[in-house]
Amino acid sequence: MDFEYSARTRDLQQRLTAFMDEHVYPNEARFAAEVAQGDRWQPTQIVESLKLKAKAAGLWNLFLPESELGAGLSNVEYAPLCEIMGRVAWAPEVFNCNAPDTGNMEVLTRYGTPEQQQRWLKPLLNGEIRSCFAMTEPDVASSDATNISSRIVRDGDDYVINGRKWWSSGANDPRCALFIFMGKSDPDNPDRHRQQSMILVPRDTPGVTVLRHLPVFGYDDAPHGHGELVFDNVRVPASNMLLGEGRGFEIAQGRLGPGRIHHCMRLIGLAERALELMCKRALSRTAFGKPVAAQTVTLERIAEARIQIDQCRLLTLNAAYMMDTVGNKVAAKQIAMIKVAAPLMACQVIDWAIQVHGGAGVSDDTPLAYMYAQARTLRLADGPDEVHRNQIGKLELSRYVSRH
Ligand SMILES: Cc1cc2nc3c(=O)[nH]c(=O)nc-3n(C[C@H](O)[C@H](O)[C@H](O)COP(=O)(O)OP(=O)(O)OC[C@H]3O[C@@H](n4cnc5c(N)ncnc54)[C@H](O)[C@@H]3O)c2cc1C
Repeated sequence: MDFEYSARTRDLQQRLTAFMDEHVYPNEARFAAEVAQGDRWQPTQIVESLKLKAKAAGLWNLFLPESELGAGLSNVEYAPLCEIMGRVAWAPEVFNCNAPDTGNMEVLTRYGTPEQQQRWLKPLLNGEIRSCFAMTEPDVASSDATNISSRIVRDGDDYVINGRKWWSSGANDPRCALFIFMGKSDPDNPDRHRQQSMILVPRDTPGVTVLRHLPVFGYDDAPHGHGELVFDNVRVPASNMLLGEGRGFEIAQGRLGPGRIHHCMRLIGLAERALELMCKRALSRTAFGKPVAAQTVTLERIAEARIQIDQCRLLTLNAAYMMDTVGNKVAAKQIAMIKVAAPLMACQVIDWAIQVHGGAGVSDDTPLAYMYAQARTLRLADGPDEVHRNQIGKLELSRYVSRH
């Protein structure tokens, strides 16, 4: 692969970095203060106002490869930009490049009917509403998606939906208007991968209840949050089915490719920021007569952090390059590899940065503790490490299985 960033990427990198410097970093404290004031589950003024600025600056919908609806960037071109946004947890939304909306917009772009696109994709692309992806269930091991047991049953011109979901990210946000719901429409199909469907559920449909939000290590991720939801005899028109009955897995494969590698790109940005904070702190703090930076253990960790971050960046770019050139399916191994490597790397780098900061590292005076919580969830949230490793191992072994 060509390691040089395209001219378009370099231009956007420079503009995005300038935007972050001018509008995002200086407003981190304001974002936290706004969330802490009054109702935590309301959108913040700061993000809403920066969205207008980002749109005006042409820094909007930079994701969405192979579509005229976004900026028309390839995955390789988008990766370094997503990395820059990933340096601050709430920054991706400023550019309408936040999870889970990016994955959901990709689903609607690839699989939505013109009517579905008009009603849902358009306002999502405009940043007017938000969406949620409701697959995981509290009652079954959802890392094996064939276990999903919610029901989607045809009844005349409608489907009736019943089930309980949790970890539905974004569900607590009042702007979240749409759930992409995965459930079983044909539980007796002998092909376990044809039992599931995905269907669009407007949030205001009777029978949809958000029971509670689930904090992550005590962080509530307001104003978006992660919801536990009940769908009780929820009735939606048959035209809300995505792609067709029994095709939920097919969509999941498409959705979870690019949407998931975006997390890896953001994690690289997060780790870069942690390393930056680590270096600055190590240089400015003196212990036992010399700067913490002068301790060889600190030098070792800084060096190791740089090595691990750069390794992950190259692995991510390679996965992105494969997705661009041979498609998500053939790139499955590279995607799985980076999904294992990036969160582990970020957890390690942030952990070292916390250590250099001493007690300050685990307080809320630096962003490190929250960064660690975010990075740690990504060893689970995009499917557990073990599942990706199993896939990589099997693909590796398949090269040596003799075919007769
Ligand atoms: C912050 C956060 C946000 C999330 N956002 C969303 C969302 O928006 N929408 C959504 O639908 N879900 C979301 N999830 C849920 C996430 O996708 C699931 O938690 C994940 O897929 C694992 O499913 P599970 O929790 O049921 O764990 P289980 O399937 O019960 O697995 C538990 C553990 O078993 C082990 N295990 C499982 N399979 C294997 C295997 N093959 N080999 C070895 N060990 C194995 C692993 O250690 C695994 O961690 C989110 C989760 C978090 C934490």
